[in-house]
Amino acid sequence: MHIPVTVIGAGLGGLALARVLHLHGIPVTVHEAETSPSARAQGGLLDIHDYNGQLAIEAAGLTDAFHSIVLEGHQAMRVLDRDGTVLFDQADDGTGGRPEVERGALRRILLDSLPPGTVRWGRKVTGTRPLGGGRHELAFADGTTLTTGLLVGADGAWSRVRPLLTSATPEYAGTSVVETYLFEADTRHPAAAKAVGGGSMIAHGQGGREIFAHRESGATLHAYIGLTEPQDWFAALDFTDAATATARIAREFDGWAPELRSLITDTDTAPLLRPFHTLPPGHRWERVPGVTLLGDAAHLAPPNGEGANLALLDGAELGRALAARPDDVEAALTAYEEAMFRRSAEAAEIHAMGPAGGAPHALAGDLTGHQAP
Ligand SMILES: Cc1cc2nc3c(=O)[nH]c(=O)nc-3n(C[C@H](O)[C@H](O)[C@H](O)COP(=O)(O)OP(=O)(O)OC[C@H]3O[C@@H](n4cnc5c(N)ncnc54)[C@H](O)[C@@H]3O)c2cc1C
Repeated sequence: MHIPVTVIGAGLGGLALARVLHLHGIPVTVHEAETSPSARAQGGLLDIHDYNGQLAIEAAGLTDAFHSIVLEGHQAMRVLDRDGTVLFDQADDGTGGRPEVERGALRRILLDSLPPGTVRWGRKVTGTRPLGGGRHELAFADGTTLTTGLLVGADGAWSRVRPLLTSATPEYAGTSVVETYLFEADTRHPAAAKAVGGGSMIAHGQGGREIFAHRESGATLHAYIGLTEPQDWFAALDFTDAATATARIAREFDGWAPELRSLITDTDTAPLLRPFHTLPPGHRWERVPGVTLLGDAAHLAPPNGEGANLALLDGAELGRALAARPDDVEAALTAYEEAMFRRSAEAAEIHAMGPAGGAPHALAGDLTGHQAP
């Protein structure tokens, strides 16, 4: 009988792990801070790569379900100059290795594949304590505690489990994005809709200014307005005053083509600031009995199109490692961590050597891992 696994976080990584453990008959419970599956809009499209994310989906036995949620045509990709000139335009011919899905739909198929009760909602971990011998005590915001012999931190960028393994904390990566949404764009914002096309669009400017946008279902344009500025610069903007903040951000894009600027000025939602943080690239730790990390908790990086894919693969690989060595959990964790450290360091290295030479202005344009020519 395998030792029960306690997972913190029902993001894509934690759920992929739970699913693979379930397939191998290993008992698992996932504790999630959010109060329900619909507590927070999951937002955004993810392209799931054939060399990592899709391998995890396969290990989870969910390939058919995955194909049923792929958004056909959304792998199209365009690169525009700031004046609107099309520099690169690639149609989606259905043969690409990075199909696009909605993050919420992907999370849903993982959740639906687990026995009821596997995920405990409204279970926010507030503290952790080593008890020795590989055992750990978890404290929850609801006042309860729990002791576990095998703990996995799948709790994202600001992991509460991470301090058990390492003192590393995320630092500001130098770039933030402001998110906007334009609804029913084909009829209400046709020029912007045409500029974005059927999939994703990147427009690079000078001085760390860039716009990345993609078409979501229902002709929604979801844009990430990238600005390379220190956090103080953003702190001086009042994001509670949506109109003023929008106008201030738009000013930074004076001189850009109107159809690109309208992705800022015509937003149907209040602009949402998202600073990017990162752990040191190649970050690792010494083995600590009874606990490990996966996904952003282990190797948070500025968005480079790999984060969700790596989290999925970490989860699947950890599940497989535990299933392969039911009598030697420490050997399983060591094997998993060595492969995970290698994988995440390689991903960080590849993106640091991207076409922009790792310059900060590559960040927002790199959100889905598509590279400008
Ligand atoms: C703007 C933006 C765009 C991105 N675009 C892409 C993309 O196109 N492609 C891609 O591959 N990646 C993308 N990423 C990266 C990707 O979102 C992450 O790498 C991925 O979500 C990591 O998954 P995870 O399961 O490790 O963590 P998360 O998805 O962060 O899940 C962690 C879960 O843990 C829960 N949790 C947190 N703290 C606690 C606690 N104390 N107690 C209990 N539960 C807790 C959270 O509520 C959450 O459900 C993007 C990121 C950003 C910010």
